[in-house]
Amino acid sequence: SQDRVFNFAAGPANLPENVLLKAQSELYNWRGSGMSVMEMSHRGKEFLSIIQKAEADLRTLLNIPPEYSVLFLQGGATTQFAAIPLNLCKPDDKVDYVVTGSWGDKAFKEAQKYSQPKVIWSGKSEKYTKIPAFEELEQSPDAKYLHICTNETIHGVEFKTYPTPKNGLLIADMSSNFCSKPVDVSKFGIIYAGAQKNVGPSGVTVVIIRKDLIGNAQEITPVMLDFKIHDENKSLYNTPPCYGIYMCGLVFEDLLEQGGLGEIEKKNKRKADLLYNAIDESKGFYRCPVEKSVRSLMNVPFTLEKSELEAEFVKEAAKEKMVQLKGHRSVGGMRASIYNAMPLAGVEKLVDFMKDFQAKHA
Ligand code: PMP
Repeated sequence: SQDRVFNFAAGPANLPENVLLKAQSELYNWRGSGMSVMEMSHRGKEFLSIIQKAEADLRTLLNIPPEYSVLFLQGGATTQFAAIPLNLCKPDDKVDYVVTGSWGDKAFKEAQKYSQPKVIWSGKSEKYTKIPAFEELEQSPDAKYLHICTNETIHGVEFKTYPTPKNGLLIADMSSNFCSKPVDVSKFGIIYAGAQKNVGPSGVTVVIIRKDLIGNAQEITPVMLDFKIHDENKSLYNTPPCYGIYMCGLVFEDLLEQGGLGEIEKKNKRKADLLYNAIDESKGFYRCPVEKSVRSLMNVPFTLEKSELEAEFVKEAAKEKMVQLKGHRSVGGMRASIYNAMPLAGVEKLVDFMKDFQAKHA
């Protein structure tokens, strides 16, 4: 609508307009219950119907096999950096981390407190612009799992295929490309993601976990981090983030109505192609440092050849209702996050703006 901006934030990020309008229409009195979702008991039949529908729709979207549990948790993906080694390892167990950006690095550092992680590949010396060739990975023969971050939000590098872990257990932080394309869940032991980029508001973390991995947590594991507790109680051990789960449910419904993740991926590719082409065809005025084959469909970092113009770029774009284009403080430049809910029109407007800006300053 006219009074909304195109929000290119990395997360919390924009939500589909029709989802927001639906939530607005149901806010005051949810489907004749006489109350809003925020006021409901998490154990009442109304909320149970909401969380069950959200799970069922997510299972349909990602084609999640029955031997996997779906948990709706709190604490963000950051909490999972600790929960995963706590649930899967003894303190002296070895685990492998492929570090393709800052988030993978944070996950590795947290795992040091509860296991013996090893960085078997790091893209740091190349400023996190690459994904390794899988055959070059020197996996530890006795590692309990291999951890990857499938899309590095800050650096804009995305796995397009996945490595095969030696012992079969691949763990993935999918926070910033969750539900942006089809994924073969059966390749993973655990997939986890904060909701606030592609599927809802902040405050909800989705964990998809193979059931046989549940139930071996270290003794010191807090109840709130123990997958067994949450699994046995169907994410209702304590008060869950009810409103956030409801919002995720509306987004899942919307993604299904759009034709599912195959259709979503097509839309995301079209948007990303448009933007990367504009960068690549600018004769060096704009540059994206990421290796072409692993450029993210979700987060597009770019710099200006004349870096002194970057602040002006961000300011002028904001005047035209395109906001949050400043790059992460650790990388600089610009970053356009174009998650599922960013309409094609938003990317088209940005590309037009980029061409005008270049013409003015070339
Ligand atoms: N992993 C990735 C890939 C992320 O993008 C983020 C958040 N930007 C996190 C983890 C941390 O998530 P949270 O803030 O939900 O803890």
